[in-house]
Amino acid sequence: MQLTDLEHRALLDWIDLSTQLRRVTNAAKQAELVERLRALAGEHKANAARIADLESERAARVERAAGLERDVAARGQAIIELEAKLNAGVGLTSRDLLALQRDIDTARATRSSKEDEQLELLGEIEELDAELARLREAGTELAAEGRRLQTERAARSAELDAEAAQLHSQRAAREGELPESLRARVAAREAAGEVGAAIVVQRSCGACGAELSGMAQSRLTSGGQGETVECEECEAVLVRP
Ligand SMILES: [Zn+2]
Repeated sequence: MQLTDLEHRALLDWIDLSTQLRRVTNAAKQAELVERLRALAGEHKANAARIADLESERAARVERAAGLERDVAARGQAIIELEAKLNAGVGLTSRDLLALQRDIDTARATRSSKEDEQLELLGEIEELDAELARLREAGTELAAEGRRLQTERAARSAELDAEAAQLHSQRAAREGELPESLRARVAAREAAGEVGAAIVVQRSCGACGAELSGMAQSRLTSGGQGETVECEECEAVLVRP
């Protein structure tokens, strides 16, 4: 097909606008940002799971500490009673007194070891609290970063949509200047997600890169500036720049 100068100019603009549109459409997917958001969501989830684990570890220790607390108090009470009995000494032989003293010593030693255990547990709870505070802060930061990226994504999306709408309307205006059969052909290919038309770049198709056949090259060379051929590989309409 031989295009007039105006039609040729319109087709070159159409090709350029289509290239820009493909770029904008691809950018609108925001693949990198979406990937970062996905990774953030994963981190946030893992962080929340770790918090839940530590919280249940903490709860178990708190329960054990409460049990020890009751145990220590009960042993304290028992010691008081044994000591009262020892001090009263009513009806006790010296053998009884010795046995009583041994019982008191044993009870004190056991209470002391329970108190050590209690202290150790409280220390562990304190460490868990510090780790939990750190994880909760990290969770808050991750959530804030997620919201920031979502806002960025929405803003960028609106920007790209506006850019695409403008390119679409500019391209539609150029389509009006093309011969009807060419317009229908390139529009249908674009609608199907294929490149409708491209320029010839160093004797190759600007869409798929295939080299033009000798016949196509000689048609372009012998025809005027507005001569078009079809790429034998991808069937895009080709024109000289
Ligand atoms: Zn091609």
